[in-house]
Amino acid sequence: MYEYVGAIHMHSKFSDGSGDAKKIAETANEVGLDYIILTDHNTLRALHEGYEKWYDNTLMLVGCELNDKVNKNHYLAMNIEDTLSTRQSAKEYVKKVKEAGGIGFIAHPHEERNSMKEHPPYPWIDWDAGDFTGLEIWNHMSEWMEGLTEQNKYNHFVHPLRSVEAPPEKTLVKWDELNRNRKVVGIGGIDAHAHKVNVLGFLEVEIFPYKVLFKSVRTHILTTNKIRGKNVTVQESKKLIYESLEYGRCFVANSYHGNAKGFKFFGIFGKKIFQMGDVIREKGNINLKVTLPNKNGQIKLIHNGEIISSIESNEGDFIVSKSGQYRVEVYLNGYAWIFSNHIRIEN
Ligand SMILES: [Zn+2]
Ligand SMILES: [Zn+2]
Repeated sequence: MYEYVGAIHMHSKFSDGSGDAKKIAETANEVGLDYIILTDHNTLRALHEGYEKWYDNTLMLVGCELNDKVNKNHYLAMNIEDTLSTRQSAKEYVKKVKEAGGIGFIAHPHEERNSMKEHPPYPWIDWDAGDFTGLEIWNHMSEWMEGLTEQNKYNHFVHPLRSVEAPPEKTLVKWDELNRNRKVVGIGGIDAHAHKVNVLGFLEVEIFPYKVLFKSVRTHILTTNKIRGKNVTVQESKKLIYESLEYGRCFVANSYHGNAKGFKFFGIFGKKIFQMGDVIREKGNINLKVTLPNKNGQIKLIHNGEIISSIESNEGDFIVSKSGQYRVEVYLNGYAWIFSNHIRIEN
């Protein structure tokens, strides 16, 4: 397996972001990201105008963020060729994205901020919407805005990364609950706009420049083949990235607390190895292993939404046999750092 690190969910001038698509991709390349997924609101202009390509070592893919007619139920649609009308229900666009061969992730499912009138919350309401691929379990901008108060405004603007601590508990609970019935993949999003905001009445500040956000919530994917190489086409790389996201062979990490590259969570049964996203249908003891990249952290093993083990170490070794969904959370000095996707045991 090859590991690649990327950022998902950002807006350019093609919708309400302040950056040029090309410039955003070049910035991601400077930061060292392998891929980014641009998701402008209800438009695929960047795709149709040829921006989906490599920018040195960064591949920019283009999806879009759909919403319904009351601007709720934001849905990150990827791997589709044409955008969909906003005059339909979430259920309809979830279905249509899938029919078009695409994948889709519910954006900021439990957004509930109330600090800025001009930026109301856009939560997901329609939980019966059917076959969505997954959830954005951690959205940098949502969390940042939820924590914003009149008192901490200044600090919040100056330290946009420090004020992001953990995915919403509600979202994690919902994620585990949904996984009891079927695979629902978790991804991370930054929701970068680089909005220019007037903070103190006279001072215009760019909140969340793309460069800063590229150092926060990242989605690491594991692929079966290399996405970069002389004979690898953009279409092939794109397929590999979307396959990993759809399958759940990925994890979410806040790189502000430490580079998570090299994190591993896998299962062993006899000579067989199972990755995140896999289903293990073996009877007997399964060895679940965790490896952290050069750091000690608090490793929590979660089974069907309950913490069943918690250790401070740079690796974890757990023997399990019960069926259900297993995932791992890692904390570094009390800060949420890594969230794996589930490995399922169905025996
Ligand atoms: Zn949104
Ligand atoms: Zn957005």
